[in-house]
Formats: sequence, C-alpha cells, structure tokens
Amino acid sequence: MRGTILDTPVEYLKGVGPSRAQMLKEELNVTYFADLLQVFPFRYIDRTIFHRICDINSDMNIVQVKAKILQIQLSGSGRGMRLSVIAGDETGTLELIWFQGIRWAKAKLKQGKEYIIYGKPAYFNGRYNIAHPELEEVTGEAGSTVLKMQPVYNSSEKMKAHGLDSKGIARTIQTLIQTVYYEIQETLPISLLQRFRLIDRRDAYLGIHFPQNEIHLHQATRRLKFEELFFIQLEFIRQKLHRQASSRGHHFPRVGESFNRFYNEVLPFPLTGAQKRVIREIRTDLSGGHQMNRLLQGDVGSGKTMVALFCMLIAIDNGFQACLLAPTEILANQHFQTLKKWADQIGVNIALLTGSIKQSARSPILRNLASGELQIIVGTHAILEDPVVFKQLGLVVIDEQHRFGVEQRAAMWRKSVPPPHILVMTATPIPRTMAMAFYGDLDYSVIDELPPGRKPVTTRHFTDSARLRVFSFMRQEIAKGRQVYVVFPLIYESESLDLKDIQDGFEAISREFPLPEYAVSIVHGQLKSDEKEYEMKRFVKGETQIMVATTVIEVGVDVPNASVMVIENAERFGLSQLHQLRGRVGRGADQSYCILMTKDKISTEARQRIDTMVRTTDGFEIAEADLQIRGPGDLKGTRQSGAIELHIADITTDGRVIEAARQSAIDILAIDPELLLPEHRALHDRLVELTSVQRNWSKIS
Ligand code: ADP
Ligand code: MG
Repeated sequence: MRGTILDTPVEYLKGVGPSRAQMLKEELNVTYFADLLQVFPFRYIDRTIFHRICDINSDMNIVQVKAKILQIQLSGSGRGMRLSVIAGDETGTLELIWFQGIRWAKAKLKQGKEYIIYGKPAYFNGRYNIAHPELEEVTGEAGSTVLKMQPVYNSSEKMKAHGLDSKGIARTIQTLIQTVYYEIQETLPISLLQRFRLIDRRDAYLGIHFPQNEIHLHQATRRLKFEELFFIQLEFIRQKLHRQASSRGHHFPRVGESFNRFYNEVLPFPLTGAQKRVIREIRTDLSGGHQMNRLLQGDVGSGKTMVALFCMLIAIDNGFQACLLAPTEILANQHFQTLKKWADQIGVNIALLTGSIKQSARSPILRNLASGELQIIVGTHAILEDPVVFKQLGLVVIDEQHRFGVEQRAAMWRKSVPPPHILVMTATPIPRTMAMAFYGDLDYSVIDELPPGRKPVTTRHFTDSARLRVFSFMRQEIAKGRQVYVVFPLIYESESLDLKDIQDGFEAISREFPLPEYAVSIVHGQLKSDEKEYEMKRFVKGETQIMVATTVIEVGVDVPNASVMVIENAERFGLSQLHQLRGRVGRGADQSYCILMTKDKISTEARQRIDTMVRTTDGFEIAEADLQIRGPGDLKGTRQSGAIELHIADITTDGRVIEAARQSAIDILAIDPELLLPEHRALHDRLVELTSVQRNWSKIS
C-alpha cells in the first residue's frame, strides 16, 4: 500500500461517517478515499440549456425544462398506484409520472416551487409526459454561475435514504477532491503525456467529476481511459517478456520427415495464404526456445485443424508428443477421424481418449502415452486427469477455447517440464481490440481467409407462420440429394422440458417427412454417447436426410453434403452461437442456406441479431456487431480468461486508445524492461500498487 492519505477509509472523510461509509461499501464497493475517486458520473447536466415546454416534440430523446409544480395527484392503490404531477412554464404544461419510488418523490415535491426537470418525453392523451424524471429544486444560490456541467452519479434507494443521492455523492466527492487534490500523483511519464497530449492526473480527476466545460471533460476522459488501458497493457507485456526471458520452452529446431511427407505427399489441397502465414508464425515460436502461448483465431471453416496438424507434426519431428483437446466428445471424435486418416498415411501413431472409452481400451493407450509410442492423442478433458502421463509432451492444441478455463490450461502445463507449448484455437471471432484488451498476454494469429470455392451461405428470416414454405424448401433441397439440420435451443433450466421441445419438433418433422421416403436423425444431450454417435454416423453417411438436434452439434461437426441449417427459436440464440451453427453448412461446393425461424414478435435486440445474420457472413463483422449490441460484459470466455473490469474505458469504442496504449507499453518496456529508469519510477510504483491492490489484476496470467 502507498501509505498516503488516499488509503484512508472513506468513513473518515468529512461528512461521511460510519453509516454512509457502510452504504458506500455495500452499494458501490468503496472502502478507501482512492476508491471513491473512481466513482465516476455517468452523465452531466448542462445547466445552461433549457427547453421551453412548447418546443418539446417526439423526436427529442432528452429534455431539460425549468417549470413550476402546479398540481400533485396520487391515484390507484397497491401495485397500481401512481403519482401524477403537472408542471408548467410560461409556454405550456407537462405531466410527470411515477410508478415507483412514489413516496420518495412525493416527499420531495412542493407545489408552487420551481424545478429543473430532466428526462425523456413521451406523447400521450394530447400532452407530453416524462416518466420518472430527474428533478432538482431551483434554489437561488445554485445554478449556471457555479457549475456549467453538473455531474450525475448512480445512486440507489438505500443510498438516497442516507443522503447519498446524486447530489449528495457529488458533494462528498467535492470534499474528497479538496482534501486529496495535492496527493494525487502523476503516474505516467512526461514523454507519454506530451506525445498523446494528455492532461495531468490531478486535472483529470477534477475534470471527470467537475468539468469546467465540454473540452475539459473530453480531455479528462481521454486521459483516464488511456491510463486505465495503458497499465493493463503494461502488465500484459511485462508478463509476456518475463515469460520469454525466464521460462524455458521445448526447442523444436527441425522441420522434418513427417511434416515434409505430409506436405508433399498427402495434403489434399493447397494451403491458403493465411494458413501458411500462421504456420510460419507458429514455427518461429516453436524454434525460439521459449514457451509458446498463442491464440489462433479463424472463422468457422477457415481450416484451423490443418494448421493444428502441421504444428503437431513439428513437435513429432523433434521427438515430442502432441495433444489435441476438444470441448465435446462428438468433436473429439470427429477430429480423431479426420486426423487419423492423415496420420496413418505418414505412419504417425494417434489415439482417441475420452470419458466413454472403456477401461480395457484405456490401459494400452495410457501405456503407450507413457512409453512415447503414441505420438498424438486426441480427446476431451478426460486427458487432463491424473493417470494420464506423457513421455514428452511438447505441444497442446486446445480447440474452442471458450470452453476451457485458465485452470485447465494450467493442468496441461503440469503434464510436462518445461511446460508444453500451447496453441489455443477459437472460432468465436474476437475483435482485435477485445483480444488485446483481454488476452493481451497471449500471442495472436488470425486466419483471415477461407479456402477458395466456398459460396457464402444465404441466410433468410422466417416467422412461424411461414413454416409450410420452409418444409417445402427442405423437400426441394433433399430432392437434390442434400441434407438438412434442424436445431433447437436449450431454453429451460430443466433438461426434460428442453427435451420435450425437441421431441415435439422431431415428431412434427417426422410426420412431414415420413418413412420410407425420408429418414430423420435426432441428437441431444440426454442421449448416451454411443447412441449419439450412432445417429451422427447415420447422418454423416447420408442414411438420414434430416438431423434434428440441440446445440450439441454447435461446434466442429463436418458434413459437407449438408446444405440447409434451420434454426428454431432463433431469437433465443446469441450472435456468436448463430454464426457457429450457420458454419455447419456451406462446407461443400453447393449453395447453402441458413433459415432463422422466430416468433412473429421479437425484441429489438433479437431483431438486431437476426438482421446482422441476414446481412453478413463475416465472422469478424458479426463479432463487432455482437459487441455493439450487448457490450463486452458477457462475451463468452472473457470472465474465465482473466478479464479485467474496466472503470472508464470501453473496448467497444476505445479500440484506438487500446492500440496506442499497447504500443506505448511495448516501446517503454523495450528500453526499460524492469522499469528502473528514474523517469519510469512512477510507472513502476503504480504497477506494483495495481497488481497488489486490485483483486482482479492477479488473474492476469
Ligand atoms: P475450422 O477452422 O472451422 O476448424 P476445419 O479445420 O474443420 O475448419 O476445416 C473446414 C474444412 O475445410 C475441412 O473439410 C478441411 O478439410 C477443409 N480445408 C482446410 N484447409 C483447406 C484448404 N486450404 N483448401 C481447401 N479446403 C480446406
Ligand atoms: Mg474446428
């Protein structure tokens, strides 16, 4: 800890005391002065601009008026209770409505007094109204001369009850800034401040809470965003350099026999430029003597498996074993089938290890892994279990990273000393900014090119009322010899309810596509794995034309003859899942189709997702859209991979700041890796402080 006044518990700030301190702790997670400084306003009221009531129209998102309360009326009772208030200025009247917090609002309002009223107007019954407006009494002393931009802070009913409404918080923070202003130390070197024209840190905290004007606010925001992102990147890069300098990795200098034989004699198609580039990037890593930690992104169907195979062959050519981990048995199985076909042709020993492999088959596999006879093992997390011992594990490839957490990565590390090289592959395209913000410690490769000859999948949206048309389209495609997936979401908490959904769907489709002309497969999570496998195989072999499934088929399944993907209740799926599912078709040379079925009425967000899917097949565009629609918070995998909570920066919009911050961190550490130079003293201290104080920083690995 710093041992400065900023470490003082907030209770000791003038005007706070134990009970408000308790509130701040519970509601905002604020303990010390320094924490309170980081509670930023979510917007500002420009108190100099007011609308006249007669100027309000339906296109306005937000209005601010100065009006007198003319009438206060309570109506209804219990849950139906509402408070209706008429307010007026010299140009007209406006209704203010409360459905909640009625008691609190009523206590605050005084008839005949003038208020500043702020909120979103709506037109109803011949008059404009604002539901749950923000209100502030016009008192003589406050006003535009004091503060042009007034900060607005998030508050809760509980906080308000303790005098910590937005204004109360503002007052408290004002006291805080007055108390600590000269204790706020600069953390960034002057060179960065100059280069990016950043204002100093004191001024930034003042400006974010109490800006003098728009420009001041903008500068303050920019400075604080940069600082936040910069320290994250500094830590990422520092750790990466540290690992490169200290952690020895297996050294794979050779590209030998099996790599070359496969490349020259077996490879059934030319590699794409992107595949070649990525293989080169990985080769460089593997021959450098340091442990590799690389994230490989490539859209569905971009050929990641092939890249993985080449990397595994490099390990083998250097006398090591390799392992490919998949998130589901079906996928592990399919990888195994694909790889075995190729491995056999070049005399490489490969086996499959999953939870459902019987004990009798298991023992020889374990034995051969320990003796080193087995060169590639493909499997699920079953491989992570303790009895699995390798002779010389050199490389681990993890497919579909979001299903594996940091802990599983760590479990793989322990299988070998020094730890094996790790290649994490994901088809969930992560926008570059996101990758840098959250996986900044991993190296990063992208396959940004699909193999030639693929036709983009045509995507259409239908509502349930068009079901018959969809059936007849399916019939048409099947008549051409194609196959069809029909996918149901997992909706309910209870598996049996989900099961009912898909069972009903299966029956309806079986009625519509009866035997003997048609055959329909069904696969879902409740089936035993040999049943699942049996059904999958029938579909793969073309014995059934339709596969009714839950999202168990989401990842990796490869049936080039399937040309139609029907997604039921498509409004229930997230964008990345829809994209993954669509990637199951369009693998052959035929034109493929994705049909999104929804109810007639869907939410705005669902509508945006569906429209995005219909508009584009570009995975990165979809990932960006996903980020825009729902924000980064719940993007799969970020949590478990060491995601960092951001106070002020926003990775959906601050991509350029992230890049600048990252590059600056790289430049500084290149000159001064331990941050020992006098001009980096503040950086060093701040980093130590952040990594020791902030809980979530310790997760960066
Ligand atoms: P993903 O990146 O989604 O895992 P896969 O590795 O499953 O993609 O590859 C999708 C399909 O494309 C497979 O059938 C694979 O054999 C094929 N493929 C991979 N690379 C190429 C290439 N360079 N040219 C043509 N087809 C390729
Ligand atoms: Mg794959």
